[in-house]
Amino acid sequence: MKPSIILINPWIYDFAAYDLWSKPLGLLTLAADLRQRGVHVHLIDCMDVDHPAMVKRSTLKPPKRRQFGTGKFWRQIIKKPEALKETHRPYSRYGLLPEVFDDAVKQVQNPSAILVTSLMTYWYPGVFEVIRRARKIHPRVPIILGGVYARLCEDHATGFSGADRVVSGQGIPAIYETFRNYGISVPNETPNFAIPSYPAFDLLNKIHYVCLMTSTGCPYRCHYCASHFLFPEFVQRDPAEILAEILYWRNKWGIRDFAFYDDALLVSSCKHTAVLLERIAGLNLNIRFHTPNAIHVKEITKSIARLLHQTGFQTIRLGLETSDNHKRWHLDKKISRGDFAHAMDHLRNAGFCPNQIGVYIMVGLPEQSPDAVAETIHHADRCGGVPYLSEYSPIPHTRLWENAVATSAYDLIGEPLFHNNSLLPCWDGSQKNEIPRLKRMVSQIRDKYRGKP
Ligand code: SF4
Repeated sequence: MKPSIILINPWIYDFAAYDLWSKPLGLLTLAADLRQRGVHVHLIDCMDVDHPAMVKRSTLKPPKRRQFGTGKFWRQIIKKPEALKETHRPYSRYGLLPEVFDDAVKQVQNPSAILVTSLMTYWYPGVFEVIRRARKIHPRVPIILGGVYARLCEDHATGFSGADRVVSGQGIPAIYETFRNYGISVPNETPNFAIPSYPAFDLLNKIHYVCLMTSTGCPYRCHYCASHFLFPEFVQRDPAEILAEILYWRNKWGIRDFAFYDDALLVSSCKHTAVLLERIAGLNLNIRFHTPNAIHVKEITKSIARLLHQTGFQTIRLGLETSDNHKRWHLDKKISRGDFAHAMDHLRNAGFCPNQIGVYIMVGLPEQSPDAVAETIHHADRCGGVPYLSEYSPIPHTRLWENAVATSAYDLIGEPLFHNNSLLPCWDGSQKNEIPRLKRMVSQIRDKYRGKP
């Protein structure tokens, strides 16, 4: 009998969450690989906004959806975990009602294993809750936990998640090795290439957009980022293969919105992204691209900006982080003086409107002053970009981690809930008091650009 595997994308438990082209791409990639090898796959996406049982049964307010497939999730306010009880903001479970989740798990008879993915370290309560509930329904089935939280906080996950196995290795081979340990054999060693190998978005109830990963890793080593830990090698896919993937979703499924998940989409673009975009430009596909992960300012040349515009990029996000060059030197080497202004000039000259160009600015870094953030906001505005504050979340295995641990008043090592960027865990009370001022500055600039061609 073919093995039957349940794959679960767990709930988000947080103060805020928004679907900004957010899908469990790793889990969908694994699902596609399992299907190609003859395994029965059952996907349960706790973040599904289109689940029929939610639409029919839920007493919750339906989540508002916005343009390009983004929007809100189902949301239920819940009791805060003990560690967060001093925080005066509502805490929510985003996603399906628990009874809807339970029904979905019960529908799968005799699964061979249950795989749970994870993302932010401080979202672990959602992970633990799906494991607890799945265990109750299928008590003798091995539960395997993987994903970003499992890799960054392996000891915490091993000690407290309730999973039978925590997979801390990279990629799909680590999962197959765990299957072998449990005596689960995959029917076909070689994938069946008649079945598409693209991440299995078709298992979702509705495809609002497709996320693409054209490369893994990043050649930079910014001190606040875990990219090099999660993907030690920078590997780019063949542009022809990526184009085939885009055409598959566009022609077979009518998808118009594509979000790039790459950490370094534009690095070495002359043999990668520029090649892809040149080919797309000649096809008149009428599709839209979005870069929620930010693209490298340094890599935006006149010709790249022209290609981005020509091929339908609608949402450009740039990682400026700070305009304080002294501070920057201790954080990253991804931008040099003048790069940002040049990139903005190229984008504007190519035809992008200011409200299509969002500029991520880090706030809450250890030893960062609110005035330095204010100056970066001004700098983004002077160059014609709309600032977006991006609150710093301390991440284990990054170079800034030790400094974050030393600076923070929270127990970052013992409690991943304190990594939550909403807490601004590395700022003290007087720095946090400046947040309303910084947010006001940002919203004034956004108002100024709203609707401006
Ligand atoms: S450039 Fe971006 S992805 Fe690369 S290390 Fe820096 S923050 Fe991470």
